Amino acid sequence: MNNVRPSCERLEALVPYDPKYLPAEAYLSANENPQDVPEEVRREINRRLKTMQFNRYPDPLANGLREKIAEANGLERECVLVGNGGDELLFNIALAWGGPGRTFLNLPPTFSVYEQNALLTGTEVESIPRLADYSIDEEAVLSRVAQGGVDYVIVASPNNPTGKLASEEFLLKLLDATDALVMIDEAYFEFSRMTMRPYLAQHKNLVILRTFSKAFSLAGVRLGYILGDPAIITEFVKVRQPYSVDAVSQAIAEAVYENRASFERGIVSIIEERSRLVDELRKLPEVKAYPSDANYILFKAEGAGEIWQSLYDRGILVRDFSAAEHLTDCLRVTIGSPEENERFMTALKEVLIERRRA
Ligand code: PMP
Repeated sequence: MNNVRPSCERLEALVPYDPKYLPAEAYLSANENPQDVPEEVRREINRRLKTMQFNRYPDPLANGLREKIAEANGLERECVLVGNGGDELLFNIALAWGGPGRTFLNLPPTFSVYEQNALLTGTEVESIPRLADYSIDEEAVLSRVAQGGVDYVIVASPNNPTGKLASEEFLLKLLDATDALVMIDEAYFEFSRMTMRPYLAQHKNLVILRTFSKAFSLAGVRLGYILGDPAIITEFVKVRQPYSVDAVSQAIAEAVYENRASFERGIVSIIEERSRLVDELRKLPEVKAYPSDANYILFKAEGAGEIWQSLYDRGILVRDFSAAEHLTDCLRVTIGSPEENERFMTALKEVLIERRRA
C-alpha cells in the first residue's frame, strides 16, 4: 500500500520544540556554559573512554554516577535517577503522573517543554499565568491546588526564561497544600545556590530536577537527574527507556562530577558577569531588564523582534521571545564569557542608537 494512516490525533496541533539555534559568532541563546570542560577533566575523560567496551550495554540505571550524586546530596542511591538530559525526566514525569484524565498545573511563562509533554501524553493543562513582574501568582496557585484534582505541578526555580527564584516559603506552602507531585526544576541551581534539597525528607511529594548542561558544561552530552523519595523514583523507572543514558555519557558525567570543584571559578565568573550585565542593561532607557538568579537575563524593549535581527546581523545570537505568549517584546541573553558579554552590550547599544535616529 502506498498510503499510511494518520498518526495519533494528539499530534495534530503539536509543533516540535525548536531551540532556534542558528550559526553565529557569539552563542548567547541556549543558556549554555561559555567555557567547555577544563583541559585536565577532558584528559581524564579520554583516559576512561580508551578502555570502554562499546560492544556491551551500559548499566541501565547508571549506578556509579547515581551513587556519586546521592553521596554529594546526602541521600541513598534509591533517591536518585539519571536521565538523558533533564528533558528525558521532564517527559517521564508526564508519562508517570500525567495521561488522559489527569491534570498538570503550569505557571507560564516558563520552560515550554513542560506543556508540550503534557499535550503529548494527553494530559489536561491548567495554567495560572505569572503576575506582571513574572513572579508566581501564589494565592491563585495555592487556592487552585486546595480544590484538588491536580496530578503534578512543575515550578522552575530559577524560572526560565524570566530568571527569578520562587520563594522558599511559597514552595513549602505549596508542598503542604497538595498531594500532587511537585517538581522543582533546579536546572540553574548552581547559579542561584538555592535548593529545596533540605525538604525532601519531610515532603514525599517533592522531586527536584537538575542538569549537567549548564554549570557543568555538558549540554552536548545529555545528562540530567532527579532527587526524590524512592517510591517516586520507582515510578519514573517504570516509564523510562532502559538504556537512555549511554555508557559514554555515564563515563563523561562521572569524571565531570568527581571534578566539579574545577567548575566553581567559571560559575562565580558567570554570577559576577550577570550582575555587571544587569547594571549595564538598566542604564539603557529603552530596556527593562528583569532580575536574574540564573545564567541568563530576560529583557524587554519595544521592537524586540527587530532588535533580535539587528543583533544577529552583528553575529550575536540571543533568544527571541518577542512573539511568545506572556513575553511580548522580550529577548533573553545568556551570560557568556566577559568578551562575549562586552560584544553583546556594544552591539545592543549600537542598535538602540540606530533606532533612536530612525
Ligand atoms: N529545565 C529548564 C528550566 C531548562 O531551561 C532546561 C534546558 N533548557 C532543562 C530543564 C533541560 O535541560 P537538559 O535537557 O539540557 O538537561
